[in-house]
Amino acid sequence: MPTSMSKTYDYIFAGSGLSGLSLLYRLLKEESLQHKDILVIDSASKNQNDRTWCFWEKEEGPFESLVCHEWKTLQFFSPQVSKEFEMQEYRYKMIQSGDFYAHVLDFVQGFKNVSFLKEEIIEIVEEGEKALVKTDKRSYTTDYVFNSTSLFHPKMTEENTLLQHFLGWYIKTKEPVFNPQVGTLMDFTLSQHHGTTFMYVLPTSPCVALVEYTLFTERILKEEEYEEALRSYIQEKLGISEYEITHTEFGVIPMSLAKFSSHLGKNKRIINIGTAGGYTKPSTGYTFQFVQKHVGQVVAQLKKDQSPVVIPSFRENMFEWYDRTLLDVLLTKSLSGQQIFSSLFKKVEPERILAFLANESNFWEEFTIRNSVPILPFAFSGIKQLLGLGKK
Ligand SMILES: Cc1cc2nc3c(=O)[nH]c(=O)nc-3n(C[C@H](O)[C@H](O)[C@H](O)COP(=O)(O)OP(=O)(O)OC[C@H]3O[C@@H](n4cnc5c(N)ncnc54)[C@H](O)[C@@H]3O)c2cc1C
Repeated sequence: MPTSMSKTYDYIFAGSGLSGLSLLYRLLKEESLQHKDILVIDSASKNQNDRTWCFWEKEEGPFESLVCHEWKTLQFFSPQVSKEFEMQEYRYKMIQSGDFYAHVLDFVQGFKNVSFLKEEIIEIVEEGEKALVKTDKRSYTTDYVFNSTSLFHPKMTEENTLLQHFLGWYIKTKEPVFNPQVGTLMDFTLSQHHGTTFMYVLPTSPCVALVEYTLFTERILKEEEYEEALRSYIQEKLGISEYEITHTEFGVIPMSLAKFSSHLGKNKRIINIGTAGGYTKPSTGYTFQFVQKHVGQVVAQLKKDQSPVVIPSFRENMFEWYDRTLLDVLLTKSLSGQQIFSSLFKKVEPERILAFLANESNFWEEFTIRNSVPILPFAFSGIKQLLGLGKK
């Protein structure tokens, strides 16, 4: 039976993946917060290179030194559109999670006020002005919990959620065949019989690239189906027959209309971060850049001695509505992802699409984007989501 300990931590981090470690790092960089008593609990040791994070931003980010490759030029392909575009403002960047975990954990080592525990969290509850984190071994008390476990995930079903699932292969060729300056963001010239399906191709040197077979559908596929798609794309589209697979990654990211709570409890002592807090963009699955923005806001509020609960701005709510609308169109199959992204890339300057998908576009750009996609399905889903009639 778990027993309560007398010590109260200032903050407990329930989960130390992308969002937990990003917040911890940013917090410890602040003079006024770096002496806080912190406990970090995760059931896993963060020592694996278990995912690759790609994202785009204009400025240098807090983890700039970890960016292992970046692209200024990207490509988009579909049966209707073939585009290569050089970005003026944004850079598409890649960070290996293994480098990220090592970097943050190495930095944290210098702080005696931060302790780590490898335990399974089974419950998090509020108790008056405190929160209680219960693991399989005991309970821990804190002023605030920053939770990134899935304990409070909303109910996700095939009606309200699409899965973004993918298998990526890092391949190494004998001969130099890639242009590491140019990445392929989406190649839709593939069979769409499962639903929205595309390839990423991100070359990091003339002989090395990450090729990722990605789908937005209700169910994941059998392992051999991803492998077969990758094999035939590499052979037939990239024209490469001799290569070595040096690393693989498989992932499933929820793209959901279900409402993720940003915080819980009467006294708002449980703060959800990362995917658990709704910082995975529902329409694209991208998370990295939204997590960085959110944890930056949390730290700014804590520095001012305010509650870490971040209230979304009018613009953020508006982008959430755009996301829900786009996802609703995909979920109801009014249009396919291939049709939507082809319309966008045909009619809108690609970098403005990236600004829109980063929640950084302006009203005029959003007007152009709205006018570039078929009006009826978007109007229907948009009104449905505005009136809260969609599945949650
Ligand atoms: C393979 C892969 C590739 C991805 N690529 C990209 C990308 O290119 N760009 C992008 O923006 N996003 C990407 N994502 C999506 C997203 O960025 C990641 O999933 C990201 O790790 C989410 O951060 P998080 O902190 O919410 O969760 P996580 O990083 O998964 O951290 C949650 C932590 O909680 C721990 N935990 C969970 N339950 C418990 C429990 N009960 N007790 C104790 N500990 C627990 C886990 O061990 C984990 O360490 C990818 C996801 C995957 C899986």
